[in-house]
Amino acid sequence: MVPRRELVSIVLPVYNEAATLSQLIERLDRVMRTMSGRYTFEFVLVDDGSVDETLDTARHLAAVDDRIKVVALRRNYGQTAALQVGFDHADGDVVISMDADLQHFPEDIPAFLDRIEQGYDVVCGWRSDRREGLARRWPSKAANWLVRKLTGLTVHDVGTTFRAYRGDVVRQLRLLGEHHRFIPVLAKNLGATITEVEIKNIERPVGNSNYGLSRTLNVLLDIVFLVFYVKYLDRPIRVFGRLALACFGLAAIILAVLGFLTIAYHVAAVRERSGWFLLALVLLVSGVQFLLFGLVSEVVVRMYFYPGQAKPYLVRSISRSGVSSGIVPGERSESRGIVPSEPGESIGLAPSERSEAGAPR
Ligand code: UDP
Ligand code: MG
Repeated sequence: MVPRRELVSIVLPVYNEAATLSQLIERLDRVMRTMSGRYTFEFVLVDDGSVDETLDTARHLAAVDDRIKVVALRRNYGQTAALQVGFDHADGDVVISMDADLQHFPEDIPAFLDRIEQGYDVVCGWRSDRREGLARRWPSKAANWLVRKLTGLTVHDVGTTFRAYRGDVVRQLRLLGEHHRFIPVLAKNLGATITEVEIKNIERPVGNSNYGLSRTLNVLLDIVFLVFYVKYLDRPIRVFGRLALACFGLAAIILAVLGFLTIAYHVAAVRERSGWFLLALVLLVSGVQFLLFGLVSEVVVRMYFYPGQAKPYLVRSISRSGVSSGIVPGERSESRGIVPSEPGESIGLAPSERSEAGAPR
């Protein structure tokens, strides 16, 4: 029997890339031909609300090549959203994401697929010899270092979107904001195995980057969220509780010193050290705020992980027709949903609830 050739989806977010799109598909096609014995390919072009001829060009390309799927968004949503759309429409056993501005070389794709064949779930491109300007390279280096330190990820280059993923892993991702940069971190969080391959890097040949210097600050903020997401999403009180304890601790120290001054040296500490006293009060109030915020967050993540599962009651037992005893006060008196059966038998509860319901209060 001839083994099934795996389907590889190439996901391309495109925003005003009409100048290079045809050339990109041509180069991709050339590379695909060299691998046609092993894989079949599809291209998912996501037009992210381009205002040039990108969409027309993409549709023309799709009209003559049935491997090309074009998804057109109603407006410009940004690269992350465009990538998520691409992943949602990709059917591949393997999915490859890359930029459409020719900064990523189709000729590097076989190396990605080799790593996937070796059993890795995610293969990240590593721009080991970056040719872009210092203003791009250094912030990126710093961000990569920080992400590695904070998340335990070992790849050099988290930021480039030239990556390959096993289809089942990438379809688990839910990207928001500008989180396309942190997919390796999110994938690692899901338990994916991650490696990297060196890729070529050049300056953008046509047009300008869609991102300016403000990206550095945004990336820093995203990293703060990422650490919270990866380490504390299922236990937010650990973060907010610690902040609350730190505030209470500092306030206690300040108040203790002020108290000591009052008692030992008869200083009117509240009046003469009013700044410190005020600081202690602010810390106390902040501590309460952090604590309450932590509690609210705990409730919110329960809604996130187990939506719609909470019930504000636990039924002791339900008796069937004729015998209507045993329903706890507050249960609906019209007893709707009670089905006739043997008297005394409780119904509608999961096994664990049954045993709890049967236990004495
Ligand atoms: N892109 C997109 N929507 C946007 C901005 C960019 O789909 O709002 C696409 C763009 O067409 C390119 C890729 O994302 O294929 C990377 O964009 P860019 O080259 O501007 O980013 P950089 O290489 O500077 O990180
Ligand atoms: Mg680019």
